[in-house]
Amino acid sequence: MAELRRDPVTGNWCVVGYTIIKRSSLGTCLFCPGNENLTPPKIKEIKNEDGSWAVRCFPASNPIFIIEAQENKRAEGIYDKMDNVGAHEIIVENPNHNKTMSAFTEKEFINLVDLYKDRILDLKKDKRFKYILIFKNHGELAGSYIFHPHSHVLATPIIPQRLGLEFYQSRIHFSKKERCLFCDIISQEIRQNKRVVAINNNFLAFCPFASRFPFEVWIIPRYHSAHFENPQEEDKKIDFISIFTSTMKRIERLTNAYTIVIHTSPNMMKIPWQEEALLIDDYFHWHIEIMPRDLRSSKYKREDEFYVVPTTPEESAMILKSERV
Ligand SMILES: [Zn+2]
Ligand SMILES: [Zn+2]
Ligand SMILES: [Zn+2]
Repeated sequence: MAELRRDPVTGNWCVVGYTIIKRSSLGTCLFCPGNENLTPPKIKEIKNEDGSWAVRCFPASNPIFIIEAQENKRAEGIYDKMDNVGAHEIIVENPNHNKTMSAFTEKEFINLVDLYKDRILDLKKDKRFKYILIFKNHGELAGSYIFHPHSHVLATPIIPQRLGLEFYQSRIHFSKKERCLFCDIISQEIRQNKRVVAINNNFLAFCPFASRFPFEVWIIPRYHSAHFENPQEEDKKIDFISIFTSTMKRIERLTNAYTIVIHTSPNMMKIPWQEEALLIDDYFHWHIEIMPRDLRSSKYKREDEFYVVPTTPEESAMILKSERV
């Protein structure tokens, strides 16, 4: 069984002992309309006017995190571990098997974003979950073996590594300057206008200063908000959909493999390591990170939100030891 283990040297948690099941892309597509009975029962659907589903969400059949589990925090000498309590859901973004994001209509984007928000708000009600992570891998080079457009929702009992770093850095910036780090980045990017990809009244799309991948793009609201999932006023919603749609068109012209991650606030007002009375609402600012994973970039180390490892270190050691040398 999979479990969460904490690296005592860095403090990062990994999922160890999770078996990835690679389904053949040649067989029946479980995500296509008509095959709904082949997936676990739906959690939520948004319907088209004709009654057919536009987007649907159901529990992953091979979940990384399990809702029925308990934290069961325990130690093994100096090491910490816990059960992989959480949730893992799949969102099928579109009934059309071959439609990728760049071809989504505005309405299709709205439905998808509405379902993303619904899942975050719903899962945040469970206080065992510290973070709700929504991401999507598109293309085999990004690690996706199912072509049908889909996203993952992970509810995790710990803060994912990169988010933890972002909360930490933005908190330090705020405590020194009493300004949001991201609001500062936005004004400098607009002023310098060297890395801006697109801009409208309420949103900015830009290549981050220290990009990890060629053509990495972040989409960020120009107004301060820590929560992606909060309802938006109509003009903000329109501007967000418009910049998201156009950015995905640009990305798909350049690459057919990418990862999209939504970075929103955690499921707590204060992070455990924060001593001062600073609130996430003040110092964090939601954004979406889009990372193309084409041949040139996949040669280098991937910075994943989570390390999910099929083979446990105990098994690895046994296998390595048994090799004749
Ligand atoms: Zn399909
Ligand atoms: Zn801000
Ligand atoms: Zn981020």
